[in-house]
Amino acid sequence: MLNNFSTINLSTQSRDLLERQKASWDLANTGYSGLKDVRFREFDIDGNQIKVQFNPGRMVSTTAKVDAKSIKERPCFLCSENLPAAQEKLRYNDKFNILVNPFPIFPEHFTIPHVNHTPQLIKEWFPEMLNMARDLSEKYLVFYNGPNCGASAPDHMHFQAGTKHFMPLDAHLINKKDKHDIALYREFGLEVYSLDDGLRKMIGIDGVKESAIIEAFNSFYKIYSEINPGDPEPMMNIVCLFYPEWETWRTLILLREKHRPERYFAEGNERIMLSPAAVDLGGVGVIPVQEDFERINVQIITEIFHEVFISEDKFSVLVEKLRGLSSI
Ligand SMILES: [Zn+2]
Repeated sequence: MLNNFSTINLSTQSRDLLERQKASWDLANTGYSGLKDVRFREFDIDGNQIKVQFNPGRMVSTTAKVDAKSIKERPCFLCSENLPAAQEKLRYNDKFNILVNPFPIFPEHFTIPHVNHTPQLIKEWFPEMLNMARDLSEKYLVFYNGPNCGASAPDHMHFQAGTKHFMPLDAHLINKKDKHDIALYREFGLEVYSLDDGLRKMIGIDGVKESAIIEAFNSFYKIYSEINPGDPEPMMNIVCLFYPEWETWRTLILLREKHRPERYFAEGNERIMLSPAAVDLGGVGVIPVQEDFERINVQIITEIFHEVFISEDKFSVLVEKLRGLSSI
């Protein structure tokens, strides 16, 4: 049963942590002050709102080397012993720490690493994601970037949390389902649906019953692993929200084919330094280079989204297989 006290408490505690860190830690203070100067451009692409943010503070994350060799050779920046001395930890149950992200995209942005150096893999930790989303739900949503889909520490399990309704994707989905939703199956306390809004291909799992959501996710994971196999896991980003007023979770799984688009590696006028992860694809594209920020347009955004999401063919197969679960 939902414990309202702890829900309010964890959001408040996290916000208090952020305020303390802005006061005590120069890097955090600089990062959040810098957000005031961040420039946005907004696009409407077939009814989808996409913002692009020029945010030079994100250069390190956007250009992070995530190949196995580079990862092995660097000290892990999410391990407790390597955290900056000024970084405070807010313990979340016995497995995770809530940390202020000093290079924010959201007005309030947290990184939530596992206490141990254990690989970034969703399957085992998905239930924790639901708990976190519920416990932080007064102010924040929780998201996950797969090890090959934008996580800058693919060797250390972590989630992130950020201000609710800052991303157009979740702001748009607050009160209503998208017109592109297609229900795949429903059972008590659960609905699984597909969502293709022309830019993004996603699977949604909504529900009030935690065990049913976990079971639906595990079924999805098994089928998706066969259709879009990946090492160490099939490629995805996940955005998870909990609505306390309805005691309902909404989980959106963004289905990925590719991490960085061709344009990321291009040179000169072709280059767009955008390294798409959950937040970018949720409608806040982060570009740390001014010329690329000014160059981007509807056609380029559409091209990048189509390139990094799975193909029509794979999506159709996935949808049909998930629909088939209703008869089991
Ligand atoms: Zn680590």
